[in-house]
Amino acid sequence: MTDSLAQHLTCIDCGAVHPLTYQLECRACRGLLELRYDITRMGAAGPGLLAGAGLWRYAPVLPIPDPAHRVTLGEGGTPLLDCPRLARELSVRRLLLKFDGTNPTGTVKDRSSATAVGAALHFGYRATSVVSSGNAGSSVAAYSARAGLSSLIFAYERASAPKLLHMAATATNLIIYKGVYDDLIKIWDRLAMERLFFDCGASRNPYKQEGKKTLAYEIAEQSGWAVPDVVVAPVAVGETFIATARGFREMREAGWIPRAPLMVAAQARRANAIARAFHDGAAITPLKIGYTVAEGLAAGDPGKKGDWVLRLLREGKGLAGDADDDEILAMQHRLARVEGVWAGPTGVAALAVLARLLADARLDPAQTICVIISETGLKTEGEPPSRTGVAFDDDSLRRLVAERLA
Ligand SMILES: [Zn+2]
Repeated sequence: MTDSLAQHLTCIDCGAVHPLTYQLECRACRGLLELRYDITRMGAAGPGLLAGAGLWRYAPVLPIPDPAHRVTLGEGGTPLLDCPRLARELSVRRLLLKFDGTNPTGTVKDRSSATAVGAALHFGYRATSVVSSGNAGSSVAAYSARAGLSSLIFAYERASAPKLLHMAATATNLIIYKGVYDDLIKIWDRLAMERLFFDCGASRNPYKQEGKKTLAYEIAEQSGWAVPDVVVAPVAVGETFIATARGFREMREAGWIPRAPLMVAAQARRANAIARAFHDGAAITPLKIGYTVAEGLAAGDPGKKGDWVLRLLREGKGLAGDADDDEILAMQHRLARVEGVWAGPTGVAALAVLARLLADARLDPAQTICVIISETGLKTEGEPPSRTGVAFDDDSLRRLVAERLA
């Protein structure tokens, strides 16, 4: 079974139903659109609907109908790691990490790039574009190359050197922009409306966001359909959070899982517009932000997606929190030391937020908590350890080994 069960697009604000065309907002009210599926067929077929491996295992609940458009570099199927030692340190009953750093370009973005570029092919586009802090840029560029499309990648001037190298290698056109994401995205969004390229950004394209929904399906399937009590997701403008929450909702509506997990939105403190609004019980006030080590979370104005995250948090009795740069960097090294998982600061931010929420007693530790780790640490820029070499003979090597293992 490889059909797509996608039926239509629905406006999240006015509920208007739209056909499955390429559109970025509701024609009636300019609200954001989300994909809706045949839940009755999902329910009747059950998870037996799924076949194959990786992201396209979930093709029935993705919006790319033609298998020829399902571009792949081997994304999805990332590990759900049980982390008992770190759980003990944080006093959590059970801690699971969904480690998306093992995706082909090292980030969760590969899930959305697969459906974005798949949709670009489906709708007959020849060029893609994205405004990126680094991860989305290299991912969209790689998937576009794989599909034979040209890419126009706008990259943050403070993106890490490994991310820039990766983008330069894969992009048809790489343009470094001055300032932060918020400065460029509004102008770029207007160009996207003129359809000069296929929108691979995080603000509006429902087809692009959809790939990330597979996080929820994988977490559920890897948990034997007994989903964790809590899922902590990183939030910049909210794509991963929204997509994951909806994946769980679909499975609950279809009767695949008995309940959806409580969702936690995790932000960097220097870009915490959503966490702040949630805490204050207020609407989002866009922030003028500077640099945060969690480059991928550096958005001060999450726009309509931010409002959507806030609505989901309030409806689902979710939780939002943030962590400062020092906490994020400390957690990056702690995770590597304690569990052997090397994730980037953007990737580990959600775990640092979990530690903060537990320390503040805002979350019950007697639960199974799953944290989405969204990127590899292999693209982190930093000072390597000293390169001063040591010369050895038999005796000195023997002494050193004995000393170090003592
Ligand atoms: Zn509408």
